[in-house]
Amino acid sequence: MKIYHCGNCSYPVYFENVVCSNCGFWLGYNSQQDQMVALTPGQSSWQPYGDTTATFMYCGNHAYQACNWLIPQDDATGLCVACDLNRTVPNLGDPVQLNEWQELEAAKHRLVYALLRIGLPVQDKMTYPEHGLAFDFLADQPGQDRVMTGHDEGLITLNVEEADPAKREANRVQLHEKYRTLVGHFRHEVGHYYWDELVASNPTLLADFRQLFGDERADYGQALQKHYKEGAPADWESRFISTYATSHPWEDWAETWAHYLHLLDLLESAHAFGLQVDPPGMPELTMQARADFDPYADRDMDRILSTAVPITFAVNSINRGMGRPDLYPFVLNGPVREKLAFINRVVSSAPVTLAS
Ligand SMILES: [Zn+2]
Ligand SMILES: [Zn+2]
Ligand SMILES: [Zn+2]
Repeated sequence: MKIYHCGNCSYPVYFENVVCSNCGFWLGYNSQQDQMVALTPGQSSWQPYGDTTATFMYCGNHAYQACNWLIPQDDATGLCVACDLNRTVPNLGDPVQLNEWQELEAAKHRLVYALLRIGLPVQDKMTYPEHGLAFDFLADQPGQDRVMTGHDEGLITLNVEEADPAKREANRVQLHEKYRTLVGHFRHEVGHYYWDELVASNPTLLADFRQLFGDERADYGQALQKHYKEGAPADWESRFISTYATSHPWEDWAETWAHYLHLLDLLESAHAFGLQVDPPGMPELTMQARADFDPYADRDMDRILSTAVPITFAVNSINRGMGRPDLYPFVLNGPVREKLAFINRVVSSAPVTLAS
């Protein structure tokens, strides 16, 4: 993600800030202009600092400290484009669930930011029942089946418990995963949605998909059962991005799609900070990289990969020095690079809007 600045004092602020830590101004994110706006309170709305002509409201979820996005004063739902996607939120009267939901919202807002930056259609399922996207954030209830995280025809369900870091880490260890985060869940699940919308209905893309990822008509339930029983094939690291990607072509797509979004975000941050790596004594070009382009605007997959690999190696090394897990604990092998290039092609040809 890029570096945002307070609209009053220009101090750098995080995407989630609601107050500038330097000057104390209220802040809100204008998703249409991709700007962090410093706000002065009016009678019933907020005005951008230094601009008396515009007025905004905070998204309704600002009241729950779950959103800092701005909406027009006459917005029909009272929620921003990211919060409009919520079909169900957990019991906000329960302080634990409220806290878990706030964590989930932070990750979801980063997802929606990326989708908007790419130019993918972001349409809520309540308004567009056939082709829209929606989220159910649910907590387990006593005496009922556990809430399973997953995607089904545009509806993404997340168990809010996943926002508890101790439980998430326990799940990660149990499933032998190298990486498990909330933003990773969102990036993965939304990949299933866009596969349905962008690939399934396009015979040319579907044929190319099957060449790279395999035939998705293989029985999904059986494939997952086999995966959990037998694990990944021994040579998975030469063909897939993760063990879970080996379970079924749909999961390979969703895992690789998540990495596409990981890499764009990672390189946007690197670009924003002007990162470059050029370690002395290394053979030329193997570890040199300069993040001097906006990966959302200039989506050249070869350039993205050749820049990301040295930078992730550098950041992984810094993390190891701090006793932290690798920032990016993955190897981008040849077949994965081809799959990423295909995903780049799919998103680059995506329509601006989907039918209702
Ligand atoms: Zn400020
Ligand atoms: Zn919102
Ligand atoms: Zn999946």
